Amino acid sequence: MTETADSALNVEQAGAVLAAEAARFASFGWMRGTAGNLSVVTSRDPLRLAVTASGLDKSELTPSDVVLVDGDGSAVDGGKPSAEAALHARVVRLTGAGAVVHVHTVAAVAMGRRHPAGVVLKDLEMLKGLGQPAHDQEVTLPVIANSQDMRVLGDRLEAARDPRMPAVLVAGHGLYVWGAGPRQARHHTEVVEWLLELELASAT
Ligand SMILES: [Zn+2]
Repeated sequence: MTETADSALNVEQAGAVLAAEAARFASFGWMRGTAGNLSVVTSRDPLRLAVTASGLDKSELTPSDVVLVDGDGSAVDGGKPSAEAALHARVVRLTGAGAVVHVHTVAAVAMGRRHPAGVVLKDLEMLKGLGQPAHDQEVTLPVIANSQDMRVLGDRLEAARDPRMPAVLVAGHGLYVWGAGPRQARHHTEVVEWLLELELASAT
């Protein structure tokens, strides 16, 4: 079934989806020590996102461990969203994505150190998993400097973003990846991480 950008979810359903996605990423070691956060759009007008709650072990989330936020990342019905909820909301506003994944992976941080101007990817069949029409298309994964200020980080992401690449690497931090819905965002995340792991393993 094709995933649409506007598959309507209530908050409980969104929480169940995000808990399952978080458990998967946690099992890969990409959300250690409560790191990272996930979101899914529950409404476009007004814009609402369900975002994983802050400070919880991402392998143990329940459907109620989400916070509903508005287009600025502020909580709508109480609760404490992740500090990074504002960036999730900005990515959604900027790209029209239906789901955003933020993970802290070793490969992302290592590759951000080696390629602070961006990670060039070419001649890899796996690029098709990011919507590239052919394996020989060259595309760059943008790398931006980290910040604790989500407005600053959002400005950097907006300036660096390549519309062909549904991801940005934050140096010294991790990845932001998005898709039309949670399943596509997951696939994009797994493909980007695979490409980073490959480039890391191939580096001389
Ligand atoms: Zn983070």
